[in-house]
Amino acid sequence: MAEFDTDLFVIGGGSGGVRAARIAAGYGARVMVAEEYRMGGTCVIRGCVPKKLMVYASHFHQEFEDAAGFGWTVPAPSFDWATLIANKDKEIARLEAAYTSNVEKSGARVLKARAVLEDAHTLRLSTGERVRANYVLIATGGAPNHGPAIPGIEHVISSNEVFHLPQLPRRILIQGGGYIALEFACIFAGLGSDVTVVYRGDNILRGFDEDVRAHVRSEMEKEGITILTGCTVAKVDKHAHEFTSHLSNGSSIASDKVMFAIGRHPNVANLGLENAGVAINPNNGGIAVDGFSKTSVPNIYAIGDVTHRINLTPVAIREGHAFADTVFGNKQVRVDHADIPTAVFSQPEVGTVGLTENQAREKLHRVDIYKASFRPMKATLSGRDTRMLMKLVVDGATDRVVGCHIVGDGAAEMVQVLGIAVKMKATKADFDATMALHPTAAEELVTMRAPTARHVRAAAE
Ligand code: FAD
Ligand code: NDP
Repeated sequence: MAEFDTDLFVIGGGSGGVRAARIAAGYGARVMVAEEYRMGGTCVIRGCVPKKLMVYASHFHQEFEDAAGFGWTVPAPSFDWATLIANKDKEIARLEAAYTSNVEKSGARVLKARAVLEDAHTLRLSTGERVRANYVLIATGGAPNHGPAIPGIEHVISSNEVFHLPQLPRRILIQGGGYIALEFACIFAGLGSDVTVVYRGDNILRGFDEDVRAHVRSEMEKEGITILTGCTVAKVDKHAHEFTSHLSNGSSIASDKVMFAIGRHPNVANLGLENAGVAINPNNGGIAVDGFSKTSVPNIYAIGDVTHRINLTPVAIREGHAFADTVFGNKQVRVDHADIPTAVFSQPEVGTVGLTENQAREKLHRVDIYKASFRPMKATLSGRDTRMLMKLVVDGATDRVVGCHIVGDGAAEMVQVLGIAVKMKATKADFDATMALHPTAAEELVTMRAPTARHVRAAAE
């Protein structure tokens, strides 16, 4: 391999690229990783981690309120945005350093540079260097969609900027009805902002189970978040101290910040893909790959958000690991993208794995639904007007639990564990045979006896 400077060149030091680099180096490969911004990528620097820290911050608001019913007198709490942001930034810097040193400890070399392809084996770096690599892994992730070119779009922030606002906005308008829009709507509401969500469809969280969508919306509204559906932001005007967003339904809303969270696109532009002959998947705009993450060019692979398959950190990590096993570990590993547990860290939280009721009804002949909506025990003394939702979707022919959907405290933690049962093809009888753990909310999952609905598909004509 002397004709190459390295066995593997990874473009992008995010979740997927870092895992692939470390595992490949562990197999003895000579590895280089180029990162143009900050090691750790979206998840660590401006995604999951800072987001979750802000979610924690926003929860205290309810805790202070709820404490009264349990006998506590809490002096009027006050919140300091600057402290939260400074502490969060310190933790992110610590993680960034840990990511760099872990990659270096594995034997891989970190290059602080942007890399682009000149041909299938040659990378040009922003430092001017040229590197010849036997294999190339594209792990460049994605970026926020800036949105339609409406007047005033330059005043709108995305999730990239939201982590560094100079102060907590007193009022914020957020366009979008997916993960990021709802998570930040609830973060800001919890921190005391007045929040309006603007969503183009009929209800938020398209693609999630219908009961989940309805439940989350009503719970968010109970917490004072305004959710406007069936409209979009058509124009944003900037004034001295505020913005006015003009909506497609003719109304307008004043706020201190306007944020769009309207999806993300894969980072495929200006990467030199055409120089190397790497094909784009026409269905999603990401890099086209096979089940082993191999692109249309045999020595070039792509993993994570840049392939626009399922844009979640653990998926990027698993794809990066599988790539390294397959190419450098002499173990062919294909990533299984079925039944991936996922959570929306809204308030209340959503945890879900497997099929929604509608997906199951399309796919299966008989579907049994078990559903419970109840007041969590903590709400009895706190007096909070909230309900929890738990739903199991069961294949009526095999008794297999094919979907679990939870809305409420701890939903994400519960669904991580439930994901194992679903992956193991557990049946409803297995759930029933499991002793309840009392008193918990999760015991509801093993005590729902009678189906709340049974669907049998009519025979085809
Ligand atoms: P990334 O982590 O995006 O890494 C790509 C890296 O490549 C970046 O660091 C970029 O700077 C670098 N790069 C790009 N082009 C070049 C180039 N030419 N040369 C050198 N470097 C380059 N997922 C979850 O599972 N749970 C969550 O709670 C969650 N929360 C999120 C919250 C937000 C606000 C956002 C935006 C995303 C969230 N995600 C979450 C999604 C998750 O962050 C991504 O799925 C994950 O980071 C994808 O990893 P990746 O390795 O594919 O790409
Ligand atoms: P999502 O795809 O989740 O949501 C995008 C939202 O924007 C949808 O409601 C969509 O509407 C709406 N939208 C899209 N285009 C427009 C437009 N032109 N005008 C108005 N509205 C529009 O994307 P996010 O940006 O929220 O997040 C990106 C991805 O990052 C997620 O899909 C997820 O993979 C990942 N992520 C994961 C998190 C987690 O695991 N907790 C947290 C945050 C992000 P419609 O439904 O009608 O298409």
